[in-house]
Amino acid sequence: QELSRKDRLLRVLSLAKSWFQDQLRSSVGVEALNYLMKTRQLNKGTIDSFELGYAPQSWDGLITYMNHVESISSELLVEAGLVVPRKSENGFYDRFRNRLIVPINDRQGRVIGFGGRSLDGSDPKYLNSPETELFEKGKHLFGLDKAANAIRKADKAIVVEGYFDVIALHSAGINNSVAALGTALSSQQIKQLCRCSDSKRIILNFDTDSAGIRAANRAIGEVEHLAMQGQLELRILQLPSSKDPDEYLQDHSDLDYKVLADNSPLWLDWQIDQILKDSDLSKADHFQRAVSGLVQLLGKLPQSALRSHYLQKVAELLSGGQARLALQLEEDLRNQI
Ligand code: ATP
Ligand code: MN
Ligand code: MN
Ligand code: MN
Repeated sequence: QELSRKDRLLRVLSLAKSWFQDQLRSSVGVEALNYLMKTRQLNKGTIDSFELGYAPQSWDGLITYMNHVESISSELLVEAGLVVPRKSENGFYDRFRNRLIVPINDRQGRVIGFGGRSLDGSDPKYLNSPETELFEKGKHLFGLDKAANAIRKADKAIVVEGYFDVIALHSAGINNSVAALGTALSSQQIKQLCRCSDSKRIILNFDTDSAGIRAANRAIGEVEHLAMQGQLELRILQLPSSKDPDEYLQDHSDLDYKVLADNSPLWLDWQIDQILKDSDLSKADHFQRAVSGLVQLLGKLPQSALRSHYLQKVAELLSGGQARLALQLEEDLRNQI
């Protein structure tokens, strides 16, 4: 029976996944396997469960295998995002070369794309499959197929930046974690997570750097309307002293992580802290910036108990010499309507 276009692509991706896994276990994959086990501290169980693989240092290893062993055309491999047509001449070359391969699955656990991490420090550090008809980056979450049950059970989801953050968390038994796919977290992705947990609790744990903070703010922007209506409980976790969850778990326990996650601030408290933490309110320009930032933030809140709560909170934070900011804020907010 004739397979549909989509089914043919799924089959090709699944064959490629197995081939990458075989390479990791063969003699060409020794260094890559060593990297996973020694440098990244992953055990065989985790490597198997995430079906990690290796794309060898070759321009046509995958093409040759697919063409000759599986009778799959190079054109179909291009559609699957696995090979690239040469620009000037005829022919094709493997997209992933000398990279660790992380299969990206859909919700049902079918592979729809790959992330490839360079092993020799070459750029880009991560090369991902291009968007294909199966692989739309804003639609899927890495690890959701493995995390869905744990999210339901814990009644909350943790969203991190990187593949290896998810892998490290799952390997530490924190299975309710997923990653966005190198793009900003979309509202569609967040809604998918909400469907998994009754209480709709989501913790964003992005990297502790300016890119991570920007990504958190952008993700908040996507769903703050839902959060303000109480349709979602959104918390922001910033790990102390570590760049990302993978690094954190290298020298902390899963329990340490869980305690931080459970005590992470709600998004509004986090954003207020972001505005105030580097402000010296005795300076006019800082003062000005803080007021306008807070007005913008609290002004989004409906005229309700929530707004009074946060106005009160800010007033308390600023008590002791900073009352004029609280007053100014109250006045600006009143004028705003
Ligand atoms: P590692 O721990 O392997 O060094 P990381 O996951 O901590 O890497 P980051 O630089 O923090 O890497 O990036 C977070 C995520 O963003 C990556 O896991 C990847 O999904 C995505 N990403 C990073 N660099 C790129 C890139 N050049 N192109 C596409 N996606 C990228
Ligand atoms: Mn980063
Ligand atoms: Mn990182
Ligand atoms: Mn990392």
